[in-house]
Amino acid sequence: AEDPRHVPNRALIDPSAITENTRAMGTLLEEQTALMAVVKADGYGHGMLTAARAAVEGGATWLGVAHPASALALARAGLDAQILTWLFEPHTARIVLPEVIGHGVEVSVGSPQMLALVAEAAREADRRARVHLKIDTGMGRGGVLPWQVREMGATMGEDDFLRLAGAWTHLTSADDPEDPATDQQVELFDSACEALAEEAGPIPLQHLANSAATLTRPDLHRDLVRPGIALYGCPPVPTDVPLRPALTLTSRLAMVKDVPEGHSIGYGRMRTTSRATRLGLVPIGYADGLHRAASDRCDVLVRTEHGDRRAPQVGRISMDQIVIDLGPDSEARAGDEVFLFGDAGGDPNGPSAPTAEDWARAAGTIPYEVLTSVSGRVSRKVL
Ligand code: PLP
Repeated sequence: AEDPRHVPNRALIDPSAITENTRAMGTLLEEQTALMAVVKADGYGHGMLTAARAAVEGGATWLGVAHPASALALARAGLDAQILTWLFEPHTARIVLPEVIGHGVEVSVGSPQMLALVAEAAREADRRARVHLKIDTGMGRGGVLPWQVREMGATMGEDDFLRLAGAWTHLTSADDPEDPATDQQVELFDSACEALAEEAGPIPLQHLANSAATLTRPDLHRDLVRPGIALYGCPPVPTDVPLRPALTLTSRLAMVKDVPEGHSIGYGRMRTTSRATRLGLVPIGYADGLHRAASDRCDVLVRTEHGDRRAPQVGRISMDQIVIDLGPDSEARAGDEVFLFGDAGGDPNGPSAPTAEDWARAAGTIPYEVLTSVSGRVSRKVL
């Protein structure tokens, strides 16, 4: 593996931002509502264990991951939190679920086949599995349809190795508070929970709120909320809750050079200079996680000897490099630090670094993808 000290591109991870963001989200909750930090996808690119520890310190009592393998790694780390995992297929389930259940990890089930796999794994682990029944109220991904919940409840009731620990669903459109889809989903969820409770008794935990619903819909907090993106400092809806980015992507200027008016830049000559200017070369590209679709559409922040300056990225983003337009009078020099996005610190009255949201907008995607795209070639440094 490459020595991280030899790599110019860094993802600086600030766990205290995750801790404080978790605490800030927690202030929105009633006392009886728990907070599950969603730390799937390697903690949205921040490092799963780093994110998990930071969130637990900020008051998260649950950790949520898609894959059982991640749940197992979390369980082995021995954090003081319950863990839920929700996405598996038969092949890996047979290998990993017995150990996952053996560690007391709770497991989501979204089909009769998944329930059978969990029952089989619980027998092998010789431990009762705590099951969260996933209800498909419109996402159309995992989850049983509302009219299947009675049958699922009955199966769980008949099997000593299964215990109903929760019922949950995932909202399709919570980031648009005007969208009636959320209320339609809630109605389906509530009636499915009622049917389930009739069949299987009281449901210990009901949960459906992601970051957006946690921020905008206190009526949907129920027993547990499941924020992800907000904990990493990217609010999915406008909010007064103070959230700050936990990941800052940096590089350094490899060289600067003066070019005349009319000089073309990059593949396809997407950009031609409209004046004589000074260009900066930054050794970071789409193989590091910048989205090529954002080419020529976003700024970076350059920390020069004379202060921080914003500079537009110009021309096509290449695999390993980008060009920025420093402007004709720039004092920037090779070696100067470049902030692609995140929290640059620096002078509070000076310009700030772009955000993951800025890059997402430029690329026509969402900050989730910007954060999780930062590739293995970028060295991670936990502050
Ligand atoms: N719950 C589930 C099941 C998820 O898959 C996710 C992430 O997409 C979340 C909660 C967290 O969502 P967000 O990051 O929008 O808060």
